[in-house]
Amino acid sequence: MDRALRLAADAAAADEIPVGAVVLDPAGRILAEGRNNREETADPTGHAEIVALRAAAAAQGSWNLTGCTLVVTMEPCVMCAGAILQSRIGRVVFGAWDDKAGAAGSLYDVLRDRRLPYRAEVVGGVREDEAVAQLRAFFAERR
Ligand SMILES: [Zn+2]
Repeated sequence: MDRALRLAADAAAADEIPVGAVVLDPAGRILAEGRNNREETADPTGHAEIVALRAAAAAQGSWNLTGCTLVVTMEPCVMCAGAILQSRIGRVVFGAWDDKAGAAGSLYDVLRDRRLPYRAEVVGGVREDEAVAQLRAFFAERR
């Protein structure tokens, strides 16, 4: 989460919403990382999780990330939760809850929906205060 928070700070410095993500391999080593880059790339899918998942799949030479863990500073949205399930990531650890658009337990719980064929274990609220502080500072500056 330390690395993810640092990536989120990099995003804020680049005028992107501060969200950072890392993918850990089954041994717990950092396989890939990402941060929000939606403004920079003009890509609506440029969320930290998607960037990190793409980099992890490229690093592994496979879309299948079974046994890996995604660590992200904010609760994944519906799009990212879908991508997480498609990647077969087994575990998601996140910082700030997102009551407005979260899909890992707050608004939706896509990652643990028993109607879907794949699910992921979810651990939310890890270093939540720091992640929330980053987001608040970013939006406070822009109002
Ligand atoms: Zn997202």
